[in-house]
Parts: sequence; C-alpha cells; structure tokens
Amino acid sequence: MLIRFWGVRGTIPVPGLETLRTGGNTACVAVDTSDHQVLIIDAGSGIRRLGQELMEENRGRIVGTILISHTHWDHIQGFPYFAPAFERNNRFVVVGQKRVGQRLEEILARQIIEPYLPFEYKSLDADVHVKEVDDGETIIVGDETTVRVANLNHPGGCLGFRVENDGAVLTYCTDTTHADGTVEESIVELARDADLLIHDSHFSVDGRQKFASWGHSSWLEAARAASAANAKCLALFHYAPDASDEYLEQEMLPRAKEIFPNTILAREGMVMKLP
Ligand SMILES: [Zn+2]
Ligand SMILES: [Zn+2]
Repeated sequence: MLIRFWGVRGTIPVPGLETLRTGGNTACVAVDTSDHQVLIIDAGSGIRRLGQELMEENRGRIVGTILISHTHWDHIQGFPYFAPAFERNNRFVVVGQKRVGQRLEEILARQIIEPYLPFEYKSLDADVHVKEVDDGETIIVGDETTVRVANLNHPGGCLGFRVENDGAVLTYCTDTTHADGTVEESIVELARDADLLIHDSHFSVDGRQKFASWGHSSWLEAARAASAANAKCLALFHYAPDASDEYLEQEMLPRAKEIFPNTILAREGMVMKLP
C-alpha cells in the first residue's frame, strides 16, 4: 500500500512562507493498493493536484473511490476542481456518512452551484455514484481492499476509516476528539495494530482545552491514541491554520515523540510505503 499526502491542513488552505515545508493545502490523502484501486480520502484543496496527476498517468478511464470523512469545507472544497470529475468516461464512488434528513449527494451538490461557481454539480461529466454508510460498516473496494468506517467525535459527525490491503493497515482519524484524559475505545479499535495512524492534531494542548467544543485533538491525544492502539507509526495531521513549520517541527513533533516515539509530521507530497 502506497500512501501519498496531497493536503495536510485543517480549516482553510494556508499557502505561504511559514508553511512551505509542511504544505498549505487542506485534507487529501491518496492510497495506491496492491489491486490497483484509486482510493482517495477527503477532497480538500489538495485533491486538485492529485486530479492533475491522475489525468497525466491515466490516458484511459479512471475508476476510483473517494472517502469523505464529513462535509466541512476543508474536506470537500477541492472537489469542484478535481479534473477527472469532468471527463465522461471516468467513474467515482463517493462514500460518506449517512445523516438523518440530509442526503450526502444533496450536500455535495449544494456547494457546486451558481452563484458560488459558474457550473453545477449535475453538469459534471463523470459518472459519480454516492454511497452513504453507517458506523461499523465495512465496504469492499477491490479484490484485496476493504474499508471499515467508525463514527468520530466531531460537531455534525465525522467518519474514521480503516483501510486494509495486502496485509497492511492504514487508519485515518481526523476531525475528532477524546474525552479529557482518555482515549476513545472506538478509535483504539479502528487503529488497532495499524501500520500507520493518521490522526487529528489541530491543537496545542492549551488550544484543545480552550476550544474543547470544536471537536479536534491536540498532538497529545493523537500520541496517546497511537500508543493505546499499538499503531506502528503516527502521522500528525490537520494542522491549524496558524501552525507554522517552525512550530510543528520544533514544538509539536518533539513533544509528541516523547509520548509516542515513532511520530512523524504529515507533509504535503510525502509518500509512504506500508508495511
Ligand atoms: Zn477539518
Ligand atoms: Zn470538521
């Protein structure tokens, strides 16, 4: 399983001199599997460049699965700029959470409409099929790839994903928090023995206390979750807009490593091979 980070930020893209080394795009991670599935997790602004690369690599038809953790803007704002969605031959299954009274496809369509954009969701040429899933459900993506979903703790709800392929496990848990001083059992289950846990680390410890209702974690909770789940590696992810490279490299990372030594900073463009 090959993991590539296309966007590692939360809230809003923050390009600039202070984020050059970690990257400024919002959440998007691509997974290449042994059965050659195109698996994309979240459609933040990072998905735009992923789309360009897919178009260059694949002269024929692109068939893929896009897992949407939730529909806060930083996780869907790149979708209208995902070039493969404009090609007639391509097909995407978009997977996201089932909500009471709100269909996922309607939520997506309502951001791709006049007057916000000069085109509409229904004008996308690719065949886009939207699938809603519930807590605990496992979906089969390819012959050798499955994805299990779990509800996370976030305003409006959010899904975490456990991707299993060819003996390797990737767990993606962003936009979530843990009750004070504890690690949520559902997250431990989702990340158990994972080769890589990508976890929300939006906040400093103080920020997490101050804005507890925002439904985000600090690096400390990410490190505790990785440890409790016996994950092999932790990638800190979904950095707050004000988190500079300097802060992430000199403060957040060293402190997290004290709790969970095999911690890394997710960086835009970084490629990891699992296991
Ligand atoms: Zn977010
Ligand atoms: Zn969110």
